[in-house]
This record gives sequence, C-alpha cells and structure tokens, in this order.
Amino acid sequence: MKKHADSIYVSSAIFTGNSLEPMNGAIAIAGDRIIAVGSMDSMNEYIDDNTKVVDCGDKLIVPGFNDSHVHFMYGSMVRDEDFCLSLYDCTSEEECVKRVKEFADKHPNNPWIFGSGWNHNIWPSAKVPDRHLLDKILPDKPVYLSSWDIHTAWVNKKALELIGYDRNTPNLENGFIEHFPDGELSGILREPGAFDPVQKLAIQSGDSKAALRKYLKEAAKYGVTSLGNVQPYGGLEEKEVFEVYKEMEEEGLLTSRIHLFGELKKDLTDAKEYAKKYCSKKLCFAGLKKITDGICESHTGYLLEPYTDDPMTKGELQVTPEELTELIMNADSEGFNVRLHCIGDGAVRNALDCFEAVQKVNGRKNLHNAIEHIENCHPEDIARFAKLGVIASMQPMHIIQNTDEYLKLVGKKRLETTWPMRDLIDAGTIMAFGTDFPVIGLNPMEGIYAAITRQTFEGYPEGGFVKNQSITLGEALKAYTYGPAYVENCENELGTLNVGNLADIVVLDKNLFTAKPKEILETKVLMTMVGGEVIHSEL
Ligand SMILES: [Zn+2]
Repeated sequence: MKKHADSIYVSSAIFTGNSLEPMNGAIAIAGDRIIAVGSMDSMNEYIDDNTKVVDCGDKLIVPGFNDSHVHFMYGSMVRDEDFCLSLYDCTSEEECVKRVKEFADKHPNNPWIFGSGWNHNIWPSAKVPDRHLLDKILPDKPVYLSSWDIHTAWVNKKALELIGYDRNTPNLENGFIEHFPDGELSGILREPGAFDPVQKLAIQSGDSKAALRKYLKEAAKYGVTSLGNVQPYGGLEEKEVFEVYKEMEEEGLLTSRIHLFGELKKDLTDAKEYAKKYCSKKLCFAGLKKITDGICESHTGYLLEPYTDDPMTKGELQVTPEELTELIMNADSEGFNVRLHCIGDGAVRNALDCFEAVQKVNGRKNLHNAIEHIENCHPEDIARFAKLGVIASMQPMHIIQNTDEYLKLVGKKRLETTWPMRDLIDAGTIMAFGTDFPVIGLNPMEGIYAAITRQTFEGYPEGGFVKNQSITLGEALKAYTYGPAYVENCENELGTLNVGNLADIVVLDKNLFTAKPKEILETKVLMTMVGGEVIHSEL
C-alpha cells in the first residue's frame, strides 16, 4: 500500500541533528510525525494528489528550537506592555511617576499598576524614591514598581494597605520594610521577603493567559516549538502556574510544547502528582530544579577561590552539600531528573560531587540531570560532566552581557574557563541552550550568534570574549534542539529530524551554514511546525 504524506519539505540544507552538517533532501510528514527523511527520489512513494510539496530551495530546515530554560509565565507578564510598564530609561523620580500616570490612564481596567526597571543610580538626584508622588497621582489604585535589579520595590500607600503593612509591621525574614523618620512607611520594600507578597497580589491581578498568548505567538514567530519552564518567580506558585498551562492546553491555546520543572524539595508528593497530571505531548512534567548559589555580579555566586575584586568573599552555597545530596538522593530514588542552578566554579564542583555521591549509592540511572548556567568551571571538573552523565544547560547570550565586568570579578586565570562551552563539548558533554527568558528575549538566533562569536551584536570585544571557548554553528544548533530535548527526556521524539519523531520543524529564510555571523542575527523564521501543525508561516 502506498504511504501518504500530508506534506513534504524539500531543501538542499536540512540539519537533522544526526551530524553537525546539513544534508540535501526532503522530509515527509504525516499526521503529527515525520514519516521519511532522505533524498527527493525516495519521496515519490509518499506523494499523492493530496500531498503538499514545498520546495525551500537552499533555505535551512532545522528541528524546532527548544528553549531549555525559561520563566515563561512571569516572563510573559513582565514583558507584556499592557501589564508591565517599562521604566528602564527613566531619568528621574518625576518622570517615572508621570509615566505611571499615563499608563494608568491608558489602562483603566488594570486593577494594579505594575512596572519595572527604575534605577535611581542613573537619576541626577540619585535619591531613592518614596510613595508621596505616587500617592498624589494614584490615591486609590495600588502601584507596584520593581527596580532594575529586582532587589527593591517601590509601592504606594494603597498597595501597602492592601497587603496590610503599617508602621508597626516587623521586618520579615529576608526582607526590609523602610520607614520615614516619623515612623510611617516610605513605600520602599527591599528583598523578596518584604516585596514578594505584594508582587504576588499585583501579578495575580494581571491577565496571565493574555500575556502567555502573546509570548506563545512570539515563540512561534522565532521557531521555538518547546519551552523548558523552570521556577515561576514573582511570588507565583508553581501549582497555580502549572494549572494555567493545563487550562490553556484544554482550550487548545498551547501552540508550543511546555516542559514543566518543579522545585526540588524533600517531600516529593507534589512532584509525583505533577508527573501523573501533566503527561501529554504538549504539557509534560519533566523534573525538578533547585538554586544552589547566587550570581557573580553581586558576589553571591559560589567560587572555589575568592573574587578577584573582593578577596574577602568567594560567595556562598544556598544549600549545604549534605542537604543537597539528600535531596538528589530522594529524587533519584523516585526517578526524577534534577537541574541545579550553579553559577560559580565552587557551586559547579559541589553539584558534581553531590551527583557523584548519589550515583555511588544508587548506581548510574538513566536520569538526565543537568547543571544550569555554569558561568565558571574549574578545568579539573570539565570531564566530570560526561563521566557522570550530567548535562550542561547554558544561556549563551549571558556570555556577552558584562564582558569587562566579568574579568574584574574572576581575573585572568579563571576567565579561561568562563562559559567553557568548547571544553565541555570536547569532553563529550551534552549541551542544552536556553535564554533564561525574560532576562533575554526568545529569539534563538541571538544565542546561536553569541555562542559562535562570543561578541556583542556590535562586535565587542574584538576577536571575541574568551574566543577559544566558542563553538561551531552545528554544535550551537544541536544545543538548541537535541540538548534541551534530552534535558526534558524527549530526545527519542524531539530535537532531531528522524523517522518516527514528532514533526516539530522550522524553515529559516537562509542557509546559516553559508551565512556570515552577522547575518545570523537578521535571520527570520519562515515556517514553524509543531506536531505536523503549522503555527507560524511566511512561506
Ligand atoms: Zn533562570
């Protein structure tokens, strides 16, 4: 019997993910699966009157991009211009307040006014703002404005009333509520312990589904067919976030696939429930995640040796090695993958030690554990990733964000293994790329460009930042397709263009393999397909 293909995509450049170079040929799709990959001649048996044959010329066809590390709901909300007012470029308290007023007038139905990005350090006054001006323009509507570094919130009187803070409220754990000299609250809340409860109210007042729809559309536009959703942030609860995705799936609104990661805790009751509840092709529970250190910029990332610009500190671990080993042991025993946020080389080593300790007791299981970020890694630890079967989950756009500052933080010697992608891949490590959205936007071309050039879009620094750690285009594409699928336990169905896989396919507007690095940034996605369904098309 003749086999029927719904569609066949033909190109002289198809990156299947099975090698690091593209091939000349075609892909046949029937229903939600790939049914054939090969030469155009071999496609004849799949073509009938109802088959759509699309000749893409030399445009590159790749597996759907998979953004391995996103805070998707929070990110979609804080990037939704109808929910979150951007204050990054404001140059004074008065300008912020003026914009708040304009935004409030334009969005009369928003129950809260939510904004982010203010930075008093760049204002001429350099004075920390207070609630007075906000109270004057919005006495009856709560306002929540997050600072650029997300460590401080500026709120008005109404917001303080709604959360029930007053002059007698004691400071909360990991948080400070600031007062005027007369004892009244100033409207400044520092650190999550103080502002998360307020932020949660504000975020919950927003239309999360509307924001998610916008950014799912954005994902489709950029060819992102899967998203690895980690920590909810913003005071959101993972349970609630997961349920919103579930509702959206039932309403047929999940265009890209969402892979859920919950918080790694001692009690795995929730995780077991998630695994039962979220196990469809579009929405699937994929494992657990834990933060183990901070970030280098604030000297909270945990290094093996002190910071170069502050020899008094090497940062610290947020969880003891004993606790972490026990947490991984439990998860491992129950068959859950674990992803660990490790920025500094000390945190990376600690995570590898913990994974190793668990393997000594439980044996090596087929669990796809990962370390996230890996801004720095001691040379002696590079080979341990592959040896222990630990994936390196990295966000290449972070490489080029603070290159000069990074040298000051870690010094010349450690710089050699900063974002050590080349060394990790050469040592046989599986690499998974992501954006850390909303820290970075969803466009995979930016990350691919950064991983290859290790330069800003303007070409800085000349020659690239620690250029010997740069990787090839083929490796970068694989890290944006196969690697994340591996983290999500879906590598047998996603991440490569192979017969039997789900048809998550992207057609780009050029062949990246013959393009200059700069042209990567200008690349557009002509078609995005998820499970045989076209969710974005400019073909
Ligand atoms: Zn993150």
